[in-house]
Formats: sequence, C-alpha cells, structure tokens
Amino acid sequence: MAKKMKRGTPQKQCPKCGKKVHARLATCSCGHKFTSAKKKTAPTRKKKTAPRRKKKTVSGLRAQLLLEREALQKRAEAIDALLETYGS
Ligand SMILES: [Zn+2]
Repeated sequence: MAKKMKRGTPQKQCPKCGKKVHARLATCSCGHKFTSAKKKTAPTRKKKTAPRRKKKTVSGLRAQLLLEREALQKRAEAIDALLETYGS
C-alpha cells in the first residue's frame, strides 16, 4: 500500500541526465534517445496454422482423398435410403 508510483503514468529514468521522463517518450528533453524502449518492429506474422499449398503433399492429398471418400460415402448412404424408399 506504500506504493506512490501507481498513477498510471509509467516512467523511466534517463541514463544521461537522470531525469524521470514518461516511458513512452523516445527522446529525453536533454536529447538522449531511448533505444531500449519497446519499439514497434515489423510485425512478424505467425500463421502456423496456414500451411503453404505450393505443391501437393502426400498428407494433403491423403486428406483430400479422405474428404472425397467421406462425401462419396454420404452419397452412397443417401442412395441407399432412396433405394429403400422405392423398395424393390
Ligand atoms: Zn535526459
């Protein structure tokens, strides 16, 4: 409860002049540039879930075949149902 810094304004100390400046400032009033501050670097896209589909991989082809098989199976079931309704 003895913290006095809790005011919502993050500060950092200038290593050059020792002055406390706002943490967001990139340059101190004395001219010192804060380089260690959090910079916005070029956003690195982390899309691990998006596999590149340049060429058909075996697993990709397999997955596609499985999908086709599933679709055919459903179609076959539908046909079966139709056959059943029409009887013989
Ligand atoms: Zn300074």
